[in-house]
Amino acid sequence: MSPRTLSNPAPLRDRIQITCHRIWCTRLPLLLLLAAIPAADAQQQVRIGVMQLFHPHQLVLEQDSGQVLAVATDSKPASLVLNGEPGRRQLIFRADRNRVVVGSRSALSWTASARDGSAAAFRLSVPGKFHRIYRGQLTIHSESGELVAVVRMDRETAVASIVAAEMNDSDPMEALKAQAVVTRSFLAAGPRHPNFDFCDTTHCQFLKSPPPAASRVWSAVQATRGVLLQYRGKTLAALYSSRCGGQTRSLRDIGMEPGEAYPYYAVPCAYCQRHPFTWHSTISNRSQNPKPGNETRRIQEARQWGWSAIPGSDFTVAAEAGGWQLEGHSVGHGVGMCQLGAVGMAASGASFQDILAHYYPNTVLISQP
Ligand SMILES: [Zn+2]
Ligand SMILES: [Zn+2]
Repeated sequence: MSPRTLSNPAPLRDRIQITCHRIWCTRLPLLLLLAAIPAADAQQQVRIGVMQLFHPHQLVLEQDSGQVLAVATDSKPASLVLNGEPGRRQLIFRADRNRVVVGSRSALSWTASARDGSAAAFRLSVPGKFHRIYRGQLTIHSESGELVAVVRMDRETAVASIVAAEMNDSDPMEALKAQAVVTRSFLAAGPRHPNFDFCDTTHCQFLKSPPPAASRVWSAVQATRGVLLQYRGKTLAALYSSRCGGQTRSLRDIGMEPGEAYPYYAVPCAYCQRHPFTWHSTISNRSQNPKPGNETRRIQEARQWGWSAIPGSDFTVAAEAGGWQLEGHSVGHGVGMCQLGAVGMAASGASFQDILAHYYPNTVLISQP
C-alpha cells in the first residue's frame, strides 16, 4: 500500500456530531489507484466523477438558475436544449448496456454545457435518492449498464465545493484557508482514477454544491488562490484527518513505508489534547482479535466488520462475551493536518501558514500563477 492509497476523512460537519456510525465503507472499493494518469488538461480544470456511490441506472438533468443548457451526443452537436419552456425542463438519461438513452435517442455518450460550450450551472439527480447542483461541463456515458457522470470544472470551483463539504462556513478564516490550500494541493498533485481525475467520495475528496459567492469559504479560496503545499519540489497530495487524538502520526506510525514520498511527522495537537474524546464500539466475533496501530490492518478489518466498527486505528481492545469491546481516541488515520486542531489553532490567532507549517513540517508553500 502506497501513501496515495490513504483516504481522506469524512466532513467536519459529520465529525462534530461524531460518528462511529458514519458510512465509511464506500471508499474502499476505490483504493486501487493509478499513479501516472494524464491530467485533464493544463487549464487547471479537474474532472470529477460524481454519484458513483449510487450505481445509477437513471439520471435526471435540469437547469439551475435559469441557465440554458445545450445537450449533445457524441455524434451530433447541440441536439437538445433545456431552456425552461414546457417539455424542455429536464432530461432523463437511462443506461442501456454501454449506451445512454434519452427519450428515443441512443448514444455512446452525452454532454451538457452552456450554449457556447463553456461551464454551466445544472442540477443532477438520482431519482428519489439524491440531487446536487454543479457548475461545469457534464458528460454521461454507460459502463456495464451503469451511468458514469463526470463534471469537468474549474479547479478553484472544485476547491470551494470541497472546502464547503469539509468545514463549516463559520469556522475561523485561517482554518478555512488552510483547508483550501490542502485541498488544492491534493487536486494539483494529480489524478487518481482512469476515466476521470477524482471521485466525489472521501476516497478522493467529498464534494458539495459550490458555495455562494459571498460565502466565507469562497473568500478563503480566493485569498489563497494558486497557493500549493510542496515537498522537495513536488506538490503534496496532502492527507488530513478529522481528529488526531492529541498527536498526529507519520506514515511509518501507521505501518506504511514512505519511500521517496513525504513521510509525514508525528506532531502534538494542542486542541485534541485539551479536548479529549473517546469512541466505543463492539465487534461480535471471537474468532479474530482486532489489533490497533496499523492502518493497513484497520482497512482489512474494516472490510470485514465495517468502518463504523473501527473509526480510528488507535484503540484498546478488551474481550467480552461473544466479541470485543474497542475504545479509541482518534478518528481517521491521524496523518497530516488535524482539522479540529486547525480550527483550534486559527481560533488562537494562528495564520494558515502557521497551521500548515505545524502539521506538515519540512514542506514549503508556493504560489502558482
Ligand atoms: Zn476517488
Ligand atoms: Zn488533533
